[in-house]
Amino acid sequence: MDAWTEEFRADIVKRLQERGVNRPCGRCGSEKFTLVDGYAVFGLVLQLESEHVERLLPSACIACSRCGHVTFHTLAPLGLLPENQPLPPGNNPPA
Ligand SMILES: [Zn+2]
Repeated sequence: MDAWTEEFRADIVKRLQERGVNRPCGRCGSEKFTLVDGYAVFGLVLQLESEHVERLLPSACIACSRCGHVTFHTLAPLGLLPENQPLPPGNNPPA
């Protein structure tokens, strides 16, 4: 996997800032964070008995630079979810 370009990383950070993501770390209070290269993709099931993942929830990862606490931001609200990707729960495709 190639590392994300600085331009792409800056775009994600800009999108987060535009949405008011500016609070200090919820665990240690630090105000320094790092955007982690790569998406975290959560596999979702509607029933715990399901044998297969039914939906995917791709997310951007932000790590606190002091304590490492990680927070996730799903891509759809950031305008970063390609149309052919599964949508997170509660995000219905446009009519
Ligand atoms: Zn922290």
